[in-house]
Amino acid sequence: MANLMGALAMTCEEEFACDEVYALLDQVAEAAHRGEDVRVLMPLVQKHLDMCPDCREEFEGLLAMIQS
Ligand SMILES: [Zn+2]
Repeated sequence: MANLMGALAMTCEEEFACDEVYALLDQVAEAAHRGEDVRVLMPLVQKHLDMCPDCREEFEGLLAMIQS
C-alpha cells in the first residue's frame, strides 16, 4: 500500500496541477490560435487538458474569446 501511494505521488509530480495549467492557459490559447501545435509546444499542458474537463473548458472558452 505504501508503495502504491508513493507511485501515485510521483506520477502527480510529473504532471501539471490545475492552477499551473490555468497560469499558462493564456499563452497556450494564443499559441493554438496562431496555429502552433500545443501537443509539441507544451505536451504536459496538452496532457492535462486531455484528462481534465475543467481546464479544457476554460481553455476552449479562452480560445473562443481570442478567435471572436
Ligand atoms: Zn485541470
